[in-house]
Amino acid sequence: MARAKNPDANMIPVEEARRIVLGHVSPTETREVPTWQAVGLPLAADVSTDIDLAPFAGSAMDGYALHAEDLAAASSEGPVVLDVVGHEAAGHVFEGEVGPGQTVRIMTGAPVPEGLDAVVKYEVVEVLEGDGNEGSRVGFFAAAKPGENIRASGLEARADDVVMGVGEVVTPAGAGLLANAGHALVSVHRAPRVGVISLGTELVDARAVPARGQIRDVNGPALMASAREAGAEPVFYGIAPDDEERIGELVRRAARECDVVVTSGGASAGDYDYVTALIAREGEVLFDRVSIKPGKAVTFGLLGETPFFGLSGNPAGAFVGFELFVRPALRKMVGHTELARPVQEARIAHGVKKRPGRAAYNRARVERIGAEGELEVMQAPTQNSALLVDLHRGNCLVMLAEDAGRVEAGEAVAVLRYDVPEGTVL
Ligand code: AMP
Ligand code: MG
Repeated sequence: MARAKNPDANMIPVEEARRIVLGHVSPTETREVPTWQAVGLPLAADVSTDIDLAPFAGSAMDGYALHAEDLAAASSEGPVVLDVVGHEAAGHVFEGEVGPGQTVRIMTGAPVPEGLDAVVKYEVVEVLEGDGNEGSRVGFFAAAKPGENIRASGLEARADDVVMGVGEVVTPAGAGLLANAGHALVSVHRAPRVGVISLGTELVDARAVPARGQIRDVNGPALMASAREAGAEPVFYGIAPDDEERIGELVRRAARECDVVVTSGGASAGDYDYVTALIAREGEVLFDRVSIKPGKAVTFGLLGETPFFGLSGNPAGAFVGFELFVRPALRKMVGHTELARPVQEARIAHGVKKRPGRAAYNRARVERIGAEGELEVMQAPTQNSALLVDLHRGNCLVMLAEDAGRVEAGEAVAVLRYDVPEGTVL
């Protein structure tokens, strides 16, 4: 891509930028993990069951298994009395015949003996003779419906049915379902390795007290945390000063060792901004300006095969750039099909100044208010890109379209919820 004199001449809309990004990333290779370790991850392949689920008709209660028709005449005044001919506990199989007028004492989870079609719970039965087990006689005071208190075999799935499809995210209950279907291991995509680099001569590590003119590197830890939260494996490559050679070394090494490289800073076409030029020279720049505020200086390209994101140095810009471009890319690499955060509509509590131009993603917090629980959103008092506390305490970005002008208090606006996972129904 040729660099225009006015860097903003290359500016493209968010949706187009996201399409370009998603068109250049693909899922990582797959690996087998214990089902419980797959929690939160999408399956890389369909999973089917080798047996019926449940495999046999089992009792849902402690009680007596019987022929429902034997109790047809039972009532509170005239009980039907049956002979207990056997006993069944979970894991035990009663092999005998159960004839008319007979019943089997049964425990929850035990297979219902062949030919019997109802279980009456223990609490509503009266033991007339004996201890309730084999040789006893018990009274029933109400009719039973066929199928009562029996968990049918194959209720959940039949042998060879797909019980969980590719892309479906494993939940704790899902890990149980996978085990039930005969799987101790499942196939998921490897967590992508994300190399994070902070660019700027002014940056020092959190442990240092900045000298005049220096600031602490906040994007490094913030982007590492964002990558981790997105299901990736972040690796910090350090701070590089605004020095072409040092930046080149770190970026090339990260690109060799990682699936994705994310830098922040040095992307705003200032006098010392080398990173986009480096990608243009040694790889391919696919865009270097997006029509958003904050964070318009966002570069996406490829270094060899490795996707590269050069985010704005402003902490808010880096955050928004990660949310809008890096996170969806990482989710696609993990195999997720749901790539967009939930967007909801809320009334804005105050007017917002805006001129048509770039699309705005303003830091804000949405809450439910009043008896009706209406959604109200309040922006951070200032949208200064260096401030972190409002991003930290906030939960959403107010999205105002490129062509939007001033917004009045009480108007409905769309908010992007960055505090809840993609696919959440709000
Ligand atoms: P740049 O994109 O290099 O022009 O940086 C824009 C602004 O963000 C400047 O004020 C930088 O000092 C600041 N900045 C850049 N990188 C970081 C960082 N890692 N942590 C905190 N602030 C940064
Ligand atoms: Mg800089």
